[in-house]
Amino acid sequence: METNHIHSVQLDREQCVGCTNCIKRCPTGAIRVRDRKARIAQELCIDCGECVRICQHHAKIPVYDPLSSMDDFEYRIALPAPSLYVQFNNLDDTNIVLTALRKMGFDMVFEVGTAAEIVSEMSRHYVEEHPEMWPLISTACPSILKLIRIRFLSLIEHLLPIQPPVEIAASMARKKAMEETGLAPEKIGVFFISPCPAKVSACKDPTGVEKTDVDRVLAIRDVYVKLLPFMPQSAKEPMDLAEAGRIGIGWGVTGGEAAGLINDHYLAADGIENCIKVLSDLEDQKFSNLQFVELDACAGGCVGGVLTVENPYSAKTKMMVLRKYMPVSGWHGDLPGIGMWTEEVEYDPVDSLGGGLMENLRRMARVEELTKHFPGIDCGACGAPSCSALAEDIIKGEAKETDCIYVLWDYVKRISGVVSEIGGAASPAGKKDGPEKDR
Ligand code: SF4
Ligand code: SF4
Repeated sequence: METNHIHSVQLDREQCVGCTNCIKRCPTGAIRVRDRKARIAQELCIDCGECVRICQHHAKIPVYDPLSSMDDFEYRIALPAPSLYVQFNNLDDTNIVLTALRKMGFDMVFEVGTAAEIVSEMSRHYVEEHPEMWPLISTACPSILKLIRIRFLSLIEHLLPIQPPVEIAASMARKKAMEETGLAPEKIGVFFISPCPAKVSACKDPTGVEKTDVDRVLAIRDVYVKLLPFMPQSAKEPMDLAEAGRIGIGWGVTGGEAAGLINDHYLAADGIENCIKVLSDLEDQKFSNLQFVELDACAGGCVGGVLTVENPYSAKTKMMVLRKYMPVSGWHGDLPGIGMWTEEVEYDPVDSLGGGLMENLRRMARVEELTKHFPGIDCGACGAPSCSALAEDIIKGEAKETDCIYVLWDYVKRISGVVSEIGGAASPAGKKDGPEKDR
């Protein structure tokens, strides 16, 4: 099935050896290996990066903008994600990283953490004013948002309709730069420094808004390397650039967004499998008295994104230490009057059998029947993540029964039995009543 969505996790066919290690790790069953090469069903991919983590052959690659794209603009604004700060050791002042960003070539820095404090304030009001939507589910993690849209129909009405902090930061920063420089908007480049491929895709193909104010998305791991030489000098003479406080910076780890609501009736979970379990339990109405749910696809939250360099648990500890030295909140202005979703966000299920409602009911019955032909051990040797996924692929005409090595083995055994029977019957030496009878 074709999709118009932009995905930043892609396959490098040359590197893929067809080992099948990635197929079971994908939480949406988007990967198949056929003819010894993986392929990703784009309509199912939520850009979580799990396949990037598992592939030892570097065949799954996150695609983002190169550092050289800074040359595309006359004036450059950096939007550092809160998780950038905790890539560095012994950091006790975010101004050091922000100063290093300026020395690296950015004309302005605007912290995503500052916009996160605005979103916290907006969310606080929204949650209070909309008890009929409880529990509201955070829409800040693009992988979780996409997952809900393709798989959890009943949860769509619980989505918090507020743009992610990076979008608000981008709009505010561009406006500020235009006022300060008098430059035309196209001369100003807004660069998000991202911890994960899901946020790269979300900036290129946003949900809930028609267009994004982010021009380019760089990876934390690329920017980190570039910043390192500027850190010692920046530590000696840090500029006074930091605005975000504890609430905004805290968004980089799981529970940080929920803590910003100052509301005890919340649940926060991380890691894609745990999040799927929470979403299933929400669908089954297993929780009571919940007002807000924060879910982060990566372990530890954004600090666990595949575009970071530091171990997520170490980064989380650094975050706790860094926050000690900060004010609770750096944002004390009025709300900027932007940031709500302007476009409707709908359920966007994947028609995995590809036949429409009535035909799919028939196809599902055939899938069930066909699945019984397979051993049920979900070994993945066929290139599909489970026996039922192989059955679905066969019904769609994308695979054949003999892709299952057990079925193939039975088939080979039967054929070789028939061949030897025929051979035996045809061979004079094999004739039971042949030579012996002749003697
Ligand atoms: S893990 Fe997946 S993408 Fe990587 S080499 Fe194996 S089959 Fe190919
Ligand atoms: S990024 Fe996630 S959803 Fe997409 S193919 Fe990889 S594991 Fe599957």
